[in-house]
Amino acid sequence: MNLKKEWLILGAGLHGVHLACRLLDSGVPLSQLAVLDRHPTPLHLWTSLTKRLDMGYLRSTAVHHIGLSPWSLLEYATEHYGNPDNWSAPPYQRPSYEVFQEHCWEVLEEYELAQAFHRFEAEKIVIKADGTFLVESEDEILESRNLALAVGQPPPRYPSWASRTDPRIHHLLSPRPLPTVERANITVVGAGMTGAQFALAQASKNKVTLVTPKPLEEQNFDADPCWIGPKCVNRKYTESSALEKRATIRAARQPGTINHQVHAELVAALDSGKVRLIVDRAARYENRCLTLESGTQFPCDHLYLATGFEKTRPGGALVDNLIQSAGLPVAPCGFPITTPNLQWAPGLYVTGGLAELTLGPVARNITGARSAAKLIVDGLELGTNKTKVKKPHDPELSNETTPGHSALRLLGSRQNNPVELHTEQPARA
Ligand SMILES: Cc1cc2nc3c(=O)[nH]c(=O)nc-3n(C[C@H](O)[C@H](O)[C@H](O)COP(=O)(O)OP(=O)(O)OC[C@H]3O[C@@H](n4cnc5c(N)ncnc54)[C@H](O)[C@@H]3O)c2cc1C
Repeated sequence: MNLKKEWLILGAGLHGVHLACRLLDSGVPLSQLAVLDRHPTPLHLWTSLTKRLDMGYLRSTAVHHIGLSPWSLLEYATEHYGNPDNWSAPPYQRPSYEVFQEHCWEVLEEYELAQAFHRFEAEKIVIKADGTFLVESEDEILESRNLALAVGQPPPRYPSWASRTDPRIHHLLSPRPLPTVERANITVVGAGMTGAQFALAQASKNKVTLVTPKPLEEQNFDADPCWIGPKCVNRKYTESSALEKRATIRAARQPGTINHQVHAELVAALDSGKVRLIVDRAARYENRCLTLESGTQFPCDHLYLATGFEKTRPGGALVDNLIQSAGLPVAPCGFPITTPNLQWAPGLYVTGGLAELTLGPVARNITGARSAAKLIVDGLELGTNKTKVKKPHDPELSNETTPGHSALRLLGSRQNNPVELHTEQPARA
């Protein structure tokens, strides 16, 4: 046994890191927490996937971040960049990518998370008879009383015609580094936020074609923001069956859409001929030639897939095996059935996609990270979750159930621009 902790968090993405901060704030000692990830540093995957898109601004608002106080990014940005015009864009005051990242580094430093970070590839999880967890890699076994799964998304989705081993086919959501490509014919398949932003970023270096099965679709968010709070996560939703919840989530998500700003930038790039758009489906790629379903063919030196993630349950074989060995409850869609405070089994918690049935369609987003961490820690404080912790009084958070949610309301009033969708307190799921 190499390491024994009160808490292990598996996954050091935005979700795992935010949960770590909230646990530390609730009284869990830093020495009793380890945040595990196969990548070399916290937020490594998030940073490498977003950096390649050269994104100007986040899609979400300034109160959706990994700090604890909903205002912490706003305060950081105001202190370092002054007027909101210098660091954010409408609507809903979306932070620049640069400010969002800087704020992340500040949060990591403030909570000294480098001390809790442990590079580790989890291959097996065992729940012992006494309820403790063993998390195993090839050469190490970690033990804890509590375990949170913050494992992110399922693998990137490859269309059936796209080879995973072709060195000229790259998936924009894969952690594999992209080669430097200049003055080439490149094609991006998929015109959601990822594909559109990558196409724009490449337009000055390469001849870019964007292939999309449907015309461009503008939506500011990837799900209606009413899902952040009780307007949509209401009694009707929480009391519906798992099958109904899955259908609701499917209907509420708007994958493959782009926000107003990216839409405007892309339309300008199309008008000026910097990017070419083809509405069709890719069908075959060989000998540096892409063939579309319509039969159209054109040269393509490198092909970039922006085709999202697989629709499977996150966590892969690790979570599959845990479900089987521990007999964990799952819905017909295979996703965890948890308590309202996201406890899947005593001491075992989930966030991100694994918390989707409980939290609803925005579970995977940054606001989902905030809601999940709050629910988990609330459960600990209320004693409904396994380990009770004492939380120091925090006046800033004491009136709210979901931080981003109340903050949005205040952000609206601060800006004299009410954010109507965010005016109610969310019900507990
Ligand atoms: C390009 C892009 C832009 C986005 N923009 C926004 C936005 O503006 N607003 C918004 O709200 N959301 C946005 N999202 C969606 C979402 O908020 C992010 O995807 C977010 O990073 C998800 O965080 P996560 O911690 O769940 O997942 P991840 O960042 O994927 O972290 C999960 C971590 O778990 C680790 N892990 C998994 N299994 C194991 C294992 N067995 N052993 C060791 N480590 C393991 C992985 O290595 C990974 O580091 C965006 C997503 C993308 C891809």
